Amino acid sequence: EKLITLEHISKHFHVGKKQTLVAVNDITMDIYKGETLGVVGESGCGKSTLGRVVMGIYHPTKGVIKYREKPVDLKRTKDRFAYSEKAQIIFQDPYASLDPRMTVGTIISEGMEIHNMYDAKKRQERVYELLETVGLNREHANRFPHEFSGGQRQRIGIARALAIEPEFIVCDEPISALDVSIQSQIINLLKELQQKLGLTYMFIAHDLNIVKYISDRIAVMYLGNLLELANSDEIYSHTLHPYSKALLAAVPIPDPDKEAQKKIQVLSGDVPSPINPKPGCPFASRCPYADDTCRTKSPELREVRPNHFVACHKVEVETN
Ligand code: SF4
Repeated sequence: EKLITLEHISKHFHVGKKQTLVAVNDITMDIYKGETLGVVGESGCGKSTLGRVVMGIYHPTKGVIKYREKPVDLKRTKDRFAYSEKAQIIFQDPYASLDPRMTVGTIISEGMEIHNMYDAKKRQERVYELLETVGLNREHANRFPHEFSGGQRQRIGIARALAIEPEFIVCDEPISALDVSIQSQIINLLKELQQKLGLTYMFIAHDLNIVKYISDRIAVMYLGNLLELANSDEIYSHTLHPYSKALLAAVPIPDPDKEAQKKIQVLSGDVPSPINPKPGCPFASRCPYADDTCRTKSPELREVRPNHFVACHKVEVETN
């Protein structure tokens, strides 16, 4: 069941008078109800911008977002407001994303007030309930964010996101600012909540091990483009795009004799600038298989194995 559909979504930012930063370029994909879609790529690849577009925080420059197959016009306040009841976000930095002047109870109940949910008494009860759901307790409602550790603050951020009973949550690198010892607790909490509440996640991260652990499907982004999209197991067992192979090469593989490891290329060089990008394949400047076609013609995302989509001219030939 399709929950959210992205059709040819692009997001551009103007830089100075003449330059355009293409943060997201022509992305089309579906997000299915109840799944976790992992979105990975190096920093600056556009994954957080995509998360903000999907959330309705940024208006797409081009393209259409559909919710349950109906277009959402994010420029209309009414549509945006209705959509924001369904989609919430958990931010990367639990230190910066909570207002230090507000109590935890106010932070969690703010969304319910904005959306006119419940009376004051019921909202208070729900704050207590949410604190317990995320592993805190009701006494925490009257305290301020600075009194909590990073992991506890992220739990507060999760309680805030859950308060208006969304169906869909963008998790924007929710554990990358936390100690490694706390990361698995937050991931396990997100998984438990998903099962209990039937949530759908877009989980943005640069750590492929974590993405593999939590995701049903994985989307690989590079320079604002979607390069590969497949089920989590499929993308690891049949990695097809040269960039995905290079990303995986950076992840330690438990079995060093694994045949696949011999084929993967190690990524070198920097990501090109997203300002006024060149025509052709976005990965051409770093790809060992690039030729003149790659440098002039953008590869379309196409299904090359069942439910496995890749944007590469040569995926069936040199790269395997
Ligand atoms: Fe490499 Fe060409 Fe494929 Fe791009 S289209 S990933 S440059 S082989």
